[in-house]
Amino acid sequence: MRIGEILDRKGGDVATIRPDASLHDVLAQLEQRGIGALVVSTDGSDVEGIVTERDLVRVLARQGAAALDGEVRSIMTATVVTCARDATVDEVMSMMTDSRFRHVPVVEDGRLAGIISIGDVVKSTIDELEVKARSLESYVTGTY
Ligand code: AMP
Repeated sequence: MRIGEILDRKGGDVATIRPDASLHDVLAQLEQRGIGALVVSTDGSDVEGIVTERDLVRVLARQGAAALDGEVRSIMTATVVTCARDATVDEVMSMMTDSRFRHVPVVEDGRLAGIISIGDVVKSTIDELEVKARSLESYVTGTY
């Protein structure tokens, strides 16, 4: 399955945050939206970085709550691995497992077009396996 098919179903909206926003803002957005990552972007389209709950946990453990006054750019990952809509789910799953992160922004023509989380990858893999299992069952029972 292609990443574009997942985006067609779940939509291409991506929660973004400016690099000069505070870590208090990151915390609030992650909590309000019930998500684990924000793409860092000044204009909401150009990917400048990514900040996730992991980055917040790291800075809080090392520096304590005072670190929340700092800017997003101080803890974001600036070299972001992205994919295109025509990447396959298997390719994105390999990116996630090889590099040990759970979010991959989707970029088309240099602009942010969506984001895929490990939850999306797992859901699509389970859906595909269910379809295969059903068709095998129909084949075996002769009901196809
Ligand atoms: P995650 O597992 O997605 O919470 O991220 C774990 C770490 O990898 C954090 O330091 C993130 O900033 C970083 N990270 C997450 N997604 C990406 C990505 N697509 N490209 C590069 N780094 C990432």
